[in-house]
Amino acid sequence: MHEASIVDELLRVAEDHAREAGMVRIRRMKLRIGMFRMVVPELLKAAFDVMSQETIAAGAELDMEIIPLIARCGPCDREVAIEDYVFYCPTCGAPLTEIISGKEMDLMELEGDGEEDEE
Ligand SMILES: [Zn+2]
Repeated sequence: MHEASIVDELLRVAEDHAREAGMVRIRRMKLRIGMFRMVVPELLKAAFDVMSQETIAAGAELDMEIIPLIARCGPCDREVAIEDYVFYCPTCGAPLTEIISGKEMDLMELEGDGEEDEE
């Protein structure tokens, strides 16, 4: 499953951040995911629930923001929103090779508990 490799990457980044921040438990994560990643949010959530079980992010809430895919058309010198993964300019028909946004996979926020909050 494609989502599994993304969750794997996400968990690694989240655990690093949590450790640096002195968190012992992650409760909520805010993500920005580009459409280019072709992630199905439900599948990502399902993979996360399974894969996070043995980690400090077990049971954490995922807050996902999907970033639209935008490319730049050279000949037209303008930005084109890509729909249905059609990588051709609707105006001039040129292939769109320069992706401006939509490749993101960023962890924006991490909420959790520090050691002192643990009962
Ligand atoms: Zn064009």
